[in-house]
Amino acid sequence: MAGYRIEVRGTVQGVGFRPWVCRLARRMGVVGRVQNDPRGVSIEAFASTAVLGRFIDELRTDPLPTARIAELREAPIPDEDLDAFVIESSEASGRKALSIPPDLATCEDCTKELLDERDRRFEYPFTNCTACGPRFTIATGIPYDRAATTMSEFVMCEACRAEFDDVENRRFHAQPNACPECGPSLRLDRLDGHAATASNVLAHAAELLSRGKVVAVKGLGGFHLACDATDGAAVRRLRERKHRDEKPFAVMVQSLAEAGALAEISSEEGALLSAAERPVVLLRRRQDARLAVEVSPDTSLLGLFLPYTPLHHLLLAAARRPLVMTSANVSDEPICFENDEARRRLEGIADAILLHDRKIAMRCDDSVSRVIAGVPTIMRRSRGFVPRPIYLSRPVARPVLACGAHLNNTFCIAMEDTAYFGPHIGDLETVAALDFFEEAIERMQTILSVRPEVVAHDLHPGYPSTRYAQTRTELSVVGVQHHHAHVVSLMAEHGICDQVLGVAYDGTGFGEDGTSWGGDFLLCTAERYERVGTFRPIRLAGGNLAMREVWRIGYALLHDAYDGAPPRNATALLDGVPSSSLLLVKQMIEREINAPRARGVGRYFDGFGALALGRARSTHEGQVAIAWDQVANTSVVDAYPYEIDRRTTPWEVDLRPAVRAAVEDLAASAPPGDVSARFHNALIAATSELLDLLWAERGNLPVALTGGVFQNERLAAGIENVIRNKNEVLRHGAVPPGDGGIALGQALIADAVMRDKG
Ligand code: ZN
Ligand code: ZN
Ligand code: FE
Repeated sequence: MAGYRIEVRGTVQGVGFRPWVCRLARRMGVVGRVQNDPRGVSIEAFASTAVLGRFIDELRTDPLPTARIAELREAPIPDEDLDAFVIESSEASGRKALSIPPDLATCEDCTKELLDERDRRFEYPFTNCTACGPRFTIATGIPYDRAATTMSEFVMCEACRAEFDDVENRRFHAQPNACPECGPSLRLDRLDGHAATASNVLAHAAELLSRGKVVAVKGLGGFHLACDATDGAAVRRLRERKHRDEKPFAVMVQSLAEAGALAEISSEEGALLSAAERPVVLLRRRQDARLAVEVSPDTSLLGLFLPYTPLHHLLLAAARRPLVMTSANVSDEPICFENDEARRRLEGIADAILLHDRKIAMRCDDSVSRVIAGVPTIMRRSRGFVPRPIYLSRPVARPVLACGAHLNNTFCIAMEDTAYFGPHIGDLETVAALDFFEEAIERMQTILSVRPEVVAHDLHPGYPSTRYAQTRTELSVVGVQHHHAHVVSLMAEHGICDQVLGVAYDGTGFGEDGTSWGGDFLLCTAERYERVGTFRPIRLAGGNLAMREVWRIGYALLHDAYDGAPPRNATALLDGVPSSSLLLVKQMIEREINAPRARGVGRYFDGFGALALGRARSTHEGQVAIAWDQVANTSVVDAYPYEIDRRTTPWEVDLRPAVRAAVEDLAASAPPGDVSARFHNALIAATSELLDLLWAERGNLPVALTGGVFQNERLAAGIENVIRNKNEVLRHGAVPPGDGGIALGQALIADAVMRDKG
């Protein structure tokens, strides 16, 4: 007999991994034990050397499909006299473990049962097993077992109990296990004053959808608003009722094949769509897609996702059409998740509401992913991912809570060698969003059983997340520069602690000097950074107003490029802006009244986009920037001129020559697509030239591309193509490049600051 201790790291908790190991061991005649530990699963196995070798091979080469093994390490241990293989409860290990896994999409086995007339769960919308179903969103406490979930009010029937207790069964210890006998049930309420039919609720919902009605649907982490995505009038109505401007809606389709009829899908994108996390995936819409233009009026990107609950599968099958499925909320408020709350808040928005009696304990919005220049990149990390840990290559000394930034807020808790992002909170613009933020922090602290000792926040004094951190006076409070945090988030994702050259491009972020940064080159580690490059600032006349009235930025570019006297043909590009408004903005810039300087590369996109597309306004953050990216003519390879000013500290990219060249192009009636391409090419060239200069001066450091602007595929791919032969290039994958990913970097920087203090 020989003995081995095998440590498995990765996504191995809450996916049925322990029972699977147990079955495998018993089949092979291996004795020992398996249990969860804080970092994954550990196995102690005893058998003959030959059998053990095969057992480990099997674990390595043919793992459970729902598990994702990041690392498997084995070491010999002394033989023990055992006669069986057992699953040991997590508590027995005596160490605290995060036992709550993320929610997972309905697995293949469960989907089959759902459609099998002979199965006792035929068409049962709450079917699940150890490999799938709700988890994080139903957990009310720890450890993760049925008593500490919202399923505790349902008592398992005999048949369900037998499955739950049988280690050979797919539902062994599946905490939300249920069936039509004993589990939750579905119901449809009309909110439009009509009576709902009691029988065949799904057929009724499908019928309403086919008549252009808006139906709210209770999902895993909250309610969606659904309507027929092929019906323009229905989609318009939904937009009006939800007060949603032109931001695209996500669309749920029944199958990968159906997704392929609406959008172009690469194999990587197909894998993302089908992954157990089931994010919304941003894809290129097909010209001939049978879909209302109102779904995404302003962009050729289309967000699609596949059903992830049995209820979705059944609803899509009954409706037989793609459905808009957008978070049920008004404007920027958090997603609705309680039945009474939903009925109250959705009155006047939804015509009916499809709901059930399994409570949602924790709100969790859909996640969003996109393949950016070949790399699957998460843009919003929430349902399906939270609370899965991110492993740190250097443990934090004390538990840290990092509060994130302002837009697309998420927070992060780091403890020992793991970091946990909370769910997507959204923009911290409303009282409801702030309440959600605080409540979610409390809950994450509870389920991680951790009390942070350090709290990190953005340097911006006006952010509600900053003010929240400053109320936690019982903790050590550390302010962290926004772009430093962006770079360190990316370093952490790649397990890098040594110095890198960070390129942080975004819309805005508070700088150490009190001005807005966002086009910054930082030589940095978690401990410190040096700002070695930036962009020439733009005056934002009217401050935040300029973000919506992007013509103000366009004008500021002209004013700067022509030394305060742009020619008539240049200002004519701002067609539709009254000359009195132009004059006012000119005066604000010249007298420096409410015209703060901003260096965000995102603002250059706004400004150039406004001039070349004749777009005076942006209805939501990034709208003009995204449109500007998509019009670019790929066959245009030349670039606008620019300068790099090395007399300043930090060095400065000056795009005034590019502005003048673009004005000449537009005066000569060049298509906006050509102007866009030359603008992108100029940014790519300027970035790589500045990197060359910095490498020569500071040594050959790896480059970290981060910030919301790197959601722009043309720019990310363009820069990577130019520099990848010269040096290592880091890009985001598992942590969002935008402000949704910033909290991780904040946590690690705060930890480093506290270490420095001793
Ligand atoms: Zn399942
Ligand atoms: Zn049952
Ligand atoms: Fe940012």
